[in-house]
Amino acid sequence: MSARDANELRDRIARMDGASYKRYRELRGAWRFRDFTLHVDHVQGDPYAAPSPVRVELPPGTTKLPEEACRSHARRLGTATFLARRFADAASGVPRHGSGRSGEVHMEHPGQKVLPQTAVMPAADGSLEARFTVGLPGRGRRVAGAAAVELLLEVLPELVRQALTVSGEDVTRLLTAAETNEDAQALRAFLEAEALIAFVADGASLARASGVEDTPLDGADVVPFRSPTGLRRTVELPNAGRITGMVVRPGITLVIGGGFHGKSTLLRALEAGVYDHVPDDGREQVVTRRDAVKIRAEDGRAVTGVDISAFIDGLPLGRDTRCFTTPNASGSTSQAATIVEALEAGARVLLVDEDTSATNFMTRDRRMQELVPRSGEPITPFVDRVRELYEAHEVSTVLVVGGAGDYLDVADTVVRMDTYLPEDVTAEARAVAVRHPTARRSEVERPWAPPRARRIRPDSIDPARGRRDVYVRVPDARTLLFGTHAIDVGAVEQVASRAQIRAIGLALAALAREKDALALPEALDRIESLLERSGLNGLDPGRRPGNLARFRRFELAATLNRLRALRTIDRAAEPDTS
Ligand code: ADP
Ligand code: MG
Repeated sequence: MSARDANELRDRIARMDGASYKRYRELRGAWRFRDFTLHVDHVQGDPYAAPSPVRVELPPGTTKLPEEACRSHARRLGTATFLARRFADAASGVPRHGSGRSGEVHMEHPGQKVLPQTAVMPAADGSLEARFTVGLPGRGRRVAGAAAVELLLEVLPELVRQALTVSGEDVTRLLTAAETNEDAQALRAFLEAEALIAFVADGASLARASGVEDTPLDGADVVPFRSPTGLRRTVELPNAGRITGMVVRPGITLVIGGGFHGKSTLLRALEAGVYDHVPDDGREQVVTRRDAVKIRAEDGRAVTGVDISAFIDGLPLGRDTRCFTTPNASGSTSQAATIVEALEAGARVLLVDEDTSATNFMTRDRRMQELVPRSGEPITPFVDRVRELYEAHEVSTVLVVGGAGDYLDVADTVVRMDTYLPEDVTAEARAVAVRHPTARRSEVERPWAPPRARRIRPDSIDPARGRRDVYVRVPDARTLLFGTHAIDVGAVEQVASRAQIRAIGLALAALAREKDALALPEALDRIESLLERSGLNGLDPGRRPGNLARFRRFELAATLNRLRALRTIDRAAEPDTS
């Protein structure tokens, strides 16, 4: 359908003033403004319902995006996030009046992370599409014509001009966003070329404003990161030039140090380093391999059909841990399951913090070994598997420990945090380990063999609720409402945003449409190739949502694994083909 003129939009709204709110349906379709085209894809039923999703398309002549802002995928991502943040902030300042959500203009705010998302999508030629929602103004349940004319024909074009076109000083800031992201990509290429796990740049600010905020801590007390000489490397970046920082090498890296000296903050920066960050975040030059997964205990979570026998076997009452299912895992069983699930999904780096680990899962000291014999203890602690995971399976681990000195025996590198600054104390740690042997024995009875991947039953992933075939809602940053289920992802610490959880929900709905049982890694591959082929739009064809963000296979798997209704094919019932 060809676009009608904005003047016609004005006349139409004027004519429907005071009419039933349903008349707004006439606004569906495309409208040609001077500088852009507005698409009204769907019209809300009343002013109290979810606001109406709309899109604007801007040609290159309007956006005036410089060629340098759009010439590569990495640069476009930085540009898109810059513009989406600007639009989201500007939109939240639009004054609202009228009933319900009248006058509300909302775009998903990308936060500190730079992810492929659907709110703002610039193309290589400098054109762009932006998606957001608009609460069409009502008086009670009637059309508020004058307010609607003002909103759509004055406020909106001004918002588009302010937030989505660039001129003057903004061009510099925009280019910084594009270049910062290109540099982050270059750092990732460096990690890959040198087979490193992570890089933390000198000068980085790792601490966050608070425990519930992702913005940087600021003030005179912030200690900028400074790499210890032994672990320092220099990297040449396309825009920032030569920078230095600390590398994390493959193997077992321990982060030790006194309480409150910045250990967990460093680990959290590494967790976040699987994503790119906006300029001024403080972590824009902190990058971690994309297949690094945070592991923690999460008692109470559901576990379905996971082989945790390498860590836990011989549970009371003869429960089988080769196919472990429980609606209520303990600290140690949840942590074991989370590791096995992460490896099943393809993780090659595990990030573990003693603060959020089950103590009995991490180690068992000499005295406990003596008092509780191996035969009465189902747990093979992580300390006895961590080297094997690396040596036989190339899985590296970065581990924060304050108390469990047993880990000194298994570490390749030991970093001590002292007043927020790292020191390389590997040699000292070796000497201590020799001087004070722990006298504990390894509790490994069988070598680690990666369990066969589980096969999931698509019919156990049901996205339907009432009349809706697919019901996906994200009421807060830790909950996915999926069909009639609520999935708690609060302990999946690398989940980046609500937009990401929403996209994961749609991906689960796509998996539910599979006909046959699928091996879990294959299910993840299918979603990834769908995203490669069709982008995030492919998750919700025909609807063009503006509130989706890209996720990793690990968060998709973690969410699926926490769906309490999930069922896997019982291995015992299958012929063994492995
Ligand atoms: P640990 O895990 O060693 O006990 P945390 O990482 O939790 O310590 O850090 C303790 C406190 O210090 C936190 O409030 C954190 O925000 C703050 N912090 C961490 N790193 C820095 C830094 N470089 N500069 C200033 N404050 C920091
Ligand atoms: Mg800590």
